Amino acid sequence: MIAFMALVAGMMAAVAQPVTVTSTRVLVDSCAYFPQLSADGTQLLFSNTEASVLSLKDLSTGRVTTVADQGLPGFDARFGPDGKVYYVTQRLGKGNRVYREGHCYNPATGRSERVLKPQHGPVDVLTAQQGVAIVGTADRFATDKQMGLYAYTRRSQLFVVDGDRQSVSSPAGECAGYLWATVSPGGTMVALEAAGKGLFVCDLAGNVLHRLPAASMPVWLDDGHIIAMTNTNFGAQRDKGTYLYVTTLDGQTQLLTDPEEHAVQPMVVGDRLVYVADGGQVKEATLQWTRVENARPGAQPQWQSVPREKASDAVRVFINPGHGGHDSNDRPTPYYSHATGDTTAYYESDSNFKKGMALKQILEAKGYEVEISRYDNKTEDDLDLFEISALANHSGADMFLAIHSNATGIERKLNFPLALYRGWSGEPCVAGSDSIARCIMRHLEGNHTTVWTHPSRIYGDWTFYPNWGYKTGLGVLRYNKLPGMLSEGSFHDYLAERRRLNNDDFCWLEGWNFSVAIDEYFGRKGTCATGVVAGRVTDLMTDSPYEGYKFGPDIWQARNGVTVYLENQQGEWLVSAMTDGMDNGFYLLRDVKPGQYRVVCIDGGDDSRREMRDIYVRPNATTYCNFAY
Ligand SMILES: [Zn+2]
Repeated sequence: MIAFMALVAGMMAAVAQPVTVTSTRVLVDSCAYFPQLSADGTQLLFSNTEASVLSLKDLSTGRVTTVADQGLPGFDARFGPDGKVYYVTQRLGKGNRVYREGHCYNPATGRSERVLKPQHGPVDVLTAQQGVAIVGTADRFATDKQMGLYAYTRRSQLFVVDGDRQSVSSPAGECAGYLWATVSPGGTMVALEAAGKGLFVCDLAGNVLHRLPAASMPVWLDDGHIIAMTNTNFGAQRDKGTYLYVTTLDGQTQLLTDPEEHAVQPMVVGDRLVYVADGGQVKEATLQWTRVENARPGAQPQWQSVPREKASDAVRVFINPGHGGHDSNDRPTPYYSHATGDTTAYYESDSNFKKGMALKQILEAKGYEVEISRYDNKTEDDLDLFEISALANHSGADMFLAIHSNATGIERKLNFPLALYRGWSGEPCVAGSDSIARCIMRHLEGNHTTVWTHPSRIYGDWTFYPNWGYKTGLGVLRYNKLPGMLSEGSFHDYLAERRRLNNDDFCWLEGWNFSVAIDEYFGRKGTCATGVVAGRVTDLMTDSPYEGYKFGPDIWQARNGVTVYLENQQGEWLVSAMTDGMDNGFYLLRDVKPGQYRVVCIDGGDDSRREMRDIYVRPNATTYCNFAY
């Protein structure tokens, strides 16, 4: 830990005028997250990890009341200036779409009332300079007409709102999305985190004033200081020394908490910093520093009137292709290809990315709205798991899918698809997650171009990882409110499967199969008028040259460089594909109109070596046609 502290200190230039913590006290003992202190400092809002219960603690009496416990009200609730509580709930509606609505809880009466009607898409609770706004796509609510500025983000756009007018900009350019936009106390600047790019401070017109290292949940301390949490490690499978720090706008930083505390989720009221320490303990620290005030107006934005929109009915899906870059945690596994004589590198981050991008393109063609957590496969695309779940929640999607492949990690090899959702097996924390898992597993298991050793399996992550701690589970699902799951599509440490995963079309097929499963979950029919033909060509005369585990047809060598044609009933050749040189024998034919066909298989140049099978292609489905000769 000493070495770690030295490392942290080395990374950070010291703040000239330090911020000192003069005292700390514990506000809640354990299991409390996303704390919010009321403006007068007497009340504390917090949630449990699952967002299923939103609680209010009176700090003078110690009394805790439940504000709401239906529809995942927990995260991102806010106090209005009058001490009322504003929060959002969600429920599954027509066609498994998620509808979100806004509420106001009055501590004086102990009652909640709905202030924003249910709508599809994102709904955010936002703090304005003197009020609270609840912003959805179709409609929005404000505590007051004149409540000063507030900011919010959608994908890679920043919106600054002032009453009935707003401005739109994209200060950090395109990325997986912006998060945590807040207006500075003086009302002249906005801070926001741009996924994979860092923390940006801009003026109200969106001109970048400062670009700082990536940070999670940044909050303004004053016009010259921002407090944030490290955006690495939080949400990881195990705590690894998250901490809070304060940064000046020119990037001088100072630690505010000991990494041993694993501090996360800062919020500031006046000179008080409230945050969550290890185990969900909420603490309050009183700070002392020289306050910076900077009310200099920046460039004036292009104000437009706030448009009246209609919430889009299109189903929204958030995709998270697991890992990122070509680092040691991207599961690099080099292997020798007998066909090419090369040592080929396999990275899980590559196949996850190919599957995810394929799924995005297919879903968009099918009329879905899609967000994805990365557009590339570089180290900086490997977002913190907490940031991914924040992007997902904030996207207002109807469904979350994390795409991975699996490894036994031991000498014994297996191959089957595995689905994990948050909760106990059979008792998902978010309704709908188990239905999604069943649809997806059925369609992955239906892939006959691979060799499965077992049927697919579905678990709640609390059941699956009993040694990680009670209700710990997967980091990317921990603070995720979307119905969804993590898919381990197959086992990349089973060598024959790794050879298949290096084929782009094989990854595309998994994306396609996800899309058909997603259609099924949302009850969407007729999304694609064409079908897909896929198969594997094996050489029954030759044993596989590879050592190690071989299951089923993988005991034979795959045929490289084989051409596969699709022939119609008139005997015309329509489309063709060729198996690659990486010993997997895989081929794929896309965009095939429904109907009767003959699949013809020809070894390179040798017309005499013909194999053929008659198949029927259905729309929005995969027809499997393997050859072994
Ligand atoms: Zn993985």
